[in-house]
Amino acid sequence: LGMPSVPTKLADRRVSRKIQVGSVAVGGDAPVSVQSMTTTRTSDIGATLQQIAELTASGCQIVRVACPTQDDADALATIASKSQIPVIADIHFQPKYVFAAIDAGCAAVRVNPGNIKQFDDKVKEIAKAASATGTPIRIGVNAGSLDARLLKKYGKATPEALVESALWEASLFEEHGFGDIKISVKHNDPVVMVNAYRQLAAQSDYPLHLGVTEAGPAFQGTIKSAVAFGALLSEGIGDTIRVSLSAPPVEEVKVGLQILEALNLKQRRLEIVSCPSCGRAQVDVYKLADQVAAGLDGLEVPLRVAVMGCVVNGPGEAREADLGVASGNGKGQIFVKGEVIKTVPESKIVETLIEEAMKIAEQMEKDGVMS
Ligand code: SF4
Repeated sequence: LGMPSVPTKLADRRVSRKIQVGSVAVGGDAPVSVQSMTTTRTSDIGATLQQIAELTASGCQIVRVACPTQDDADALATIASKSQIPVIADIHFQPKYVFAAIDAGCAAVRVNPGNIKQFDDKVKEIAKAASATGTPIRIGVNAGSLDARLLKKYGKATPEALVESALWEASLFEEHGFGDIKISVKHNDPVVMVNAYRQLAAQSDYPLHLGVTEAGPAFQGTIKSAVAFGALLSEGIGDTIRVSLSAPPVEEVKVGLQILEALNLKQRRLEIVSCPSCGRAQVDVYKLADQVAAGLDGLEVPLRVAVMGCVVNGPGEAREADLGVASGNGKGQIFVKGEVIKTVPESKIVETLIEEAMKIAEQMEKDGVMS
């Protein structure tokens, strides 16, 4: 008799069409990707490329840049060609920049049907230009800039209004034979947002870009995004994600990656399994966990490190991890792959864990076990 199998994912992915955003596939069986957006002036090519390089290093897979002026449009070609990851131009208000972005070789263009006034008339030309270059379009509907017709019809940005706006716009492109489309329907309220994406998922096979818009400062935005993305991804809905935080974009990427890792949609990298501490703790768990996390920050191998305050759950968790410490009586029992390898005084726990983690990481790298 075998052990019952442990579910490794929450749901099968919704079946969506696959599109190609530069080198990154979105939808179909492609892994859910993480994206972010630069905060620099796009016309400042050096600063923008520098931020894109930082985003790339943090694990960002697709980057979006704003394009509100002609100077920004003029910078797109250089940025698109020098960026290590696909660049999406984000266009509001002015259709002429859509053509500029396509000409500049951007990997995709985001348009907002709610605020491009002459947009419907331009769809035929945009579809033609985008088809010729194989440039996908993201139809990005946003609660804050909903099409005036739909705002009038629904009274406010309801899930139905967001979905109708997106599908109407998509249908205009489809009329011209263009279906290389992904869609987002963002709202700042996770409940409205989740309902909108559920409806959209049921009514189409477009790949979906998830986002809670204007989610807020880092802590609140992280919670809102994690809850909303978690609800949808656990139902198999969502093909690419962008966490929006009032914080540096690298933070958005870290949160996005953690969400995917928590849902087993991406292989977990460094994972610290630490207890919350309680009246039984015999070491300062918070300090220990922080110091271990800081000492191992940036490690790219999938390593699970347990930091436990006492002998109740300590040895059990420490044994299950690649590496761990179970503390007691001012000492730490250091476990590697389930075996106690040594017992060290409390003052040596952190350095011993880091030393052992580096050895394991080195071995994993040799064995080709990368995240
Ligand atoms: Fe408390 Fe020990 Fe559990 Fe940590 S491992 S929460 S110290 S009982």
